[in-house]
Amino acid sequence: MSLPAFKLLRPRTIDEAIGYLGQHAANIRILAGGTDLIPSMRQKLFEPECVLDLRGISALCGVKMPANGSVEIGALTTIRAIERSDFLRQHYPVLTEAAATVASPVLRNMGTIGGNICLDTRCLWYNQSLTWRKGCGFCIKKDGDLCHVAPGGTKCWAAFSGDTPPALLCLQAEIEIASAAGVQRIPLADFYTGLGDNYRKLQPSELVTRVFLPASSAGYRGVYRKLRVRGSIDYPLAGVAVALKRASNGREAGLITDARIGITAVNPAPMLVKGAEDLLIGNMVDEETAASVGDLAAKISKPLTTSALTPEYRREMIRVFTKRAILAAAGLN
Ligand SMILES: Cc1cc2nc3c(=O)[nH]c(=O)nc-3n(C[C@H](O)[C@H](O)[C@H](O)COP(=O)(O)OP(=O)(O)OC[C@H]3O[C@@H](n4cnc5c(N)ncnc54)[C@H](O)[C@@H]3O)c2cc1C
Ligand code: SF4
Repeated sequence: MSLPAFKLLRPRTIDEAIGYLGQHAANIRILAGGTDLIPSMRQKLFEPECVLDLRGISALCGVKMPANGSVEIGALTTIRAIERSDFLRQHYPVLTEAAATVASPVLRNMGTIGGNICLDTRCLWYNQSLTWRKGCGFCIKKDGDLCHVAPGGTKCWAAFSGDTPPALLCLQAEIEIASAAGVQRIPLADFYTGLGDNYRKLQPSELVTRVFLPASSAGYRGVYRKLRVRGSIDYPLAGVAVALKRASNGREAGLITDARIGITAVNPAPMLVKGAEDLLIGNMVDEETAASVGDLAAKISKPLTTSALTPEYRREMIRVFTKRAILAAAGLN
């Protein structure tokens, strides 16, 4: 499958990139590592007039630790750099665990954290060639007006399938978005819409520039568990991130003092499991508590037939992985 023709723009600075975005907002796509954008362009899912290649902007790369103890990750930082960061592994292990499961080593060398956060949602009926989609009469997400997965409905249920966002949600990460109008910083949790087609709150003239991890989220135990078809290279079909903090001494040693659970690939947006903290905080972790949180996570998982595995299996694996990940984070398996 060939790439459609486009004009390649190669800014060297963030300001230059924002200028291009403002100028060509009607028909432009941002390219970071290109590991998702390029295959999608080959499938004619996107046929932009211009492609804005961020790779010449060194200011978007790298992990920085400002004096206030928080962490700033440039949007162009590769998933591999995050996976291999000793600092992140020591202080924010749920992120490095999730990063290590993304695709394959080659794709992690190319793919970036900004691209992972902004990743398009996926569906069996959408991630196909133009000819394939044409044969099915297209669908709501692109060029059509019906959903093959939920016929009769008007909503697109394509699944958000990035691995690092549920971990970032557990860390209460924020992202910086820059445009000609200025710079804004928002919680990552507010970035996703919950819709499969219009899945993120990002205007064509806007660029994600940085990810912030608060100092208060450092030191949590972190675990990520993922269901995929091919262990060596595949998007998640269900994913669970867990960040737990326990009291380390005194009469309360071992009791959970904070807990955050994030899930991915079973809804059109990654999300935190609300209520998980009520079941865990103030308690010791045991099989029963971990299973109750698993039930809660399964309850908010709404996978449909958007992938090769059945929705029932994916929801069940959210239940199982949540329980296992909580037990693992507590050092119990
Ligand atoms: C075979 C295969 C397996 C994969 N498996 C996984 C997997 O297991 N887990 C997973 O999470 N992903 C997986 N991916 C997807 C992809 O490799 C990763 O998500 C990667 O992190 C995407 O980053 P990128 O820089 O390559 O994004 P790109 O492809 O460059 O961009 C992805 C999207 O984000 C937008 N974008 C990128 N950067 C910015 C920015 N700074 N501001 C605004 N918009 C931006 C682009 O316009 C595009 O819409 C897989 C891909 C392939 C081909
Ligand atoms: S969930 Fe429905 S509308 Fe969305 S991509 Fe799949 S078939 Fe299309």
